[in-house]
Amino acid sequence: MIRFDRVLKKFGDNVVLHDLSFDVKPGEFVTLIGPSGSGKTTILRLLMTLERVNGGTIQVGDEYLTHVERGGRLVPADEKHLRLIRRRIGMVFQQFNLFPNMKVLQNVTEAPTRVLGLSRDEAETKARSWLEMVGLSDKVDAHPSQLSGGQQQRVAIARALAMEPDVLLLDEVTSALDPELIAGVLAVLREIARTTDITFLCVTHEMQFARDVSDRVMMFDQGQVIEDAPPGVLFTEPTHARTREFLHAVL
Ligand code: ATP
Repeated sequence: MIRFDRVLKKFGDNVVLHDLSFDVKPGEFVTLIGPSGSGKTTILRLLMTLERVNGGTIQVGDEYLTHVERGGRLVPADEKHLRLIRRRIGMVFQQFNLFPNMKVLQNVTEAPTRVLGLSRDEAETKARSWLEMVGLSDKVDAHPSQLSGGQQQRVAIARALAMEPDVLLLDEVTSALDPELIAGVLAVLREIARTTDITFLCVTHEMQFARDVSDRVMMFDQGQVIEDAPPGVLFTEPTHARTREFLHAVL
């Protein structure tokens, strides 16, 4: 579903991802861990096409994100192609970025009506079911400012799901939350991962969550995957000294 093939990404002289290759299978939940600055967020930003690669290719499903196939040749992707691919990828950020002047229901229906062309009725019916899934049926008429951080983040998750993405990217989704609100958000994500066939790529410092929910955990260091294993293996018997050191510091 997601394939990075020899991806190079640099900012000026700073090589952030170097010859990076990995695959994520359809429906898999893969978590990226690693020290600050190792390139995890850059991977998500490349997938959202907020950044462009300097070399290599990225595929989502059958489509290249970086290129379009024309007459058997790969040429750099144009904006139209990128727009189509972006629709299939949802992202939830550390900051919830809800529309403050819209009620919860409208926050969730906005993109499906505008971008997917759903009728208001259809978008509202679907939005209500996503809001039920994230435990916020009673908040459809609230404004974001009337909600806790955890509830706002759950609206942001419902909003991403309303676009019916094939891939959902999660970037430190609990980092801005008070500790007592984190469990509720993680429980919702766990349930979505269990009950949908969405492919997840998740960056988190919540190691217990990563352990519970991931099919695979990839340890990054200096723009490379240095270890890639199921959580039961990576967290209990890491093979790389750098992984041991990192886990020792964060656990
Ligand atoms: P953290 O865990 O702290 O979020 P990370 O592993 O997600 O770190 P990235 O945010 O991907 O790391 O950053 C990797 C490197 O790329 C860092 O050295 C960072 O300074 C650099 N970088 C990221 N975005 C930019 C940018 N827009 N311009 C210049 N340098 C950038």
